[in-house]
Amino acid sequence: MIEQTLVLVKPDGVARGLVGEVISRFENRGLKIVALKMVKIDTDFSKKHYAAHVDKDFYAGLENFIVSGPVIAMIVEGVDAIENVRKLCGATESKSALPGTIRGDYSHVSYSHADEKGMAIKNIIHASGDKEDAEKEVSLWFSVDELHGYSRSGEEHVF
Ligand code: UDP
Ligand code: MG
Repeated sequence: MIEQTLVLVKPDGVARGLVGEVISRFENRGLKIVALKMVKIDTDFSKKHYAAHVDKDFYAGLENFIVSGPVIAMIVEGVDAIENVRKLCGATESKSALPGTIRGDYSHVSYSHADEKGMAIKNIIHASGDKEDAEKEVSLWFSVDELHGYSRSGEEHVF
């Protein structure tokens, strides 16, 4: 099933110059970028995006992190895009993320290290967790006129 999912290159990924690398991984897999922009969000917007986490112990650190600099927001489209993109990202805890995944190739920190410092795990990327979250996050971050349909060359070799 063709799905759309929200992806963010978080402030650490932007500051480290990993935007191109992250986008390439989706493009190389045959997934399509259908919307993209740079945004610096505020704490109110963070509470909307991370509504499910607001009451958790790690939320304060997560909010500080996500508002600390600009993020790249994009919508990625493809067959079972939500699951496919999550797999490319790797596990939430960088230490546990397998090599070959974005988090596993570019970050390594453990939950205990982040907790000790009162910080969020700087794990480069956010991707919607499931279909319900994807629908909510796509409409939170983008208006309908910011999405674009187009054909990619060689698409007949992917679909
Ligand atoms: N996070 C953290 N410590 C935790 C759990 C989460 O720092 O114990 C941060 C981490 O940056 C993560 C984000 O909060 O990516 C959102 O958490 P979630 O469980 O939704 O993980 P994700 O969906 O990003 O893999
Ligand atoms: Mg999540």
